[in-house]
Amino acid sequence: MSEVRLTGVSKRYDAVSRPALESLDLTIPSGELAVLVGPSGCGKSTTLRIVAGLEEATTGNVFIGDTNVTNVPPANRDIAMVFQSYALYPHMSVFDNLAFALRIQKCDEKEIRERVQQVARSLSIDDYLERKPKALSGGQRQRVAIGRAVVRNPKVFLFDEPLSNLDAKLRGEMRKEIARIHNSSPETTSLYVTHDQIEAMTLADRIVVLKDGLVQQVGSPIEIYDNPNNRFVAGFFGTPAMNFLSAVTQRRDDTVHASGEGFSLPLSKEVRDCENVTVGIRPESIGLEGSADAPTMRASVHLREVLGAEVLLHVQSAAGELTVRTEAHAPAREGDNLTLYLPTDKLHVFDATSENRL
Ligand code: ADP
Repeated sequence: MSEVRLTGVSKRYDAVSRPALESLDLTIPSGELAVLVGPSGCGKSTTLRIVAGLEEATTGNVFIGDTNVTNVPPANRDIAMVFQSYALYPHMSVFDNLAFALRIQKCDEKEIRERVQQVARSLSIDDYLERKPKALSGGQRQRVAIGRAVVRNPKVFLFDEPLSNLDAKLRGEMRKEIARIHNSSPETTSLYVTHDQIEAMTLADRIVVLKDGLVQQVGSPIEIYDNPNNRFVAGFFGTPAMNFLSAVTQRRDDTVHASGEGFSLPLSKEVRDCENVTVGIRPESIGLEGSADAPTMRASVHLREVLGAEVLLHVQSAAGELTVRTEAHAPAREGDNLTLYLPTDKLHVFDATSENRL
């Protein structure tokens, strides 16, 4: 079993008033890939380093499987870590970098050779085994860094922004590589840190969203995208970001509406009267066509951005600027006046003060 469990983990750095982590409770089931995501400074690396044992928690415990490893040194936790900076030994060949941990474990040389070659083949670095890291590209170095973790066959993989130094195309390739490695080690639990919401969405079995040292939401990528707990999570995931409209709730007939400048949207949820709310709607949920009784608002197109398969329309409405994602052949052009359709079942409603979902 390689479940990773944190209970009541807090971290306060000396001379820093705000805690880096506050009372974090988190369970990552054995074999799962969990992604910790959030803006810079939210406590992602601190969490990972506490699991690794590189940082001591101020309070709380860390378990790997059934073992409380809170006071176990990093080398005895059966984890392998991949860093953004690769952290390869510059004076050693790729082969020796890959073999290093196995030699420390006193594996026999024949077994080391077999395991290194197998991992090198699977990561397509078998042609570079005699080279030193400085003779490799960034992508190749990161493959070696990942290979060095994989070759040890640890209980837990920890990834700290491993792809941040790579260009967009390589990042995409390495993301698939990491997913493949994770899937081919069903016993191994992975914890992956990134600030990149796309990496989080594409890689994770489970996403943990952090902000200011506090967990905002834990869920599958689709749960988090479709049902964000609060306005922060709603705005963090999705490119372009969700549109937000300031509104006040008003009861009309039997339905509560969220109304603002130029719009009045019936809500499917029971929300109190006279509340200040923020209504969110994703760019792809706004339609340019709809049924006669559908809620609408008027807007004019001030910028049309062609992305190839789709077009983004940046529109100005009485309630402010909105982004609409449409199909590439949509006829709307700059200067056009449009009717936007905002389906009730696609609206997210947040309390304007607490920013929590209503
Ligand atoms: P992230 O990985 O999400 O960018 P970190 O976990 O590195 O964030 O940092 C969380 C908070 O803790 C930040 O406010 C950061 O400035 C602070 N912090 C991190 N490491 C130290 C340290 N060694 N000393 C003091 N403050 C630190």
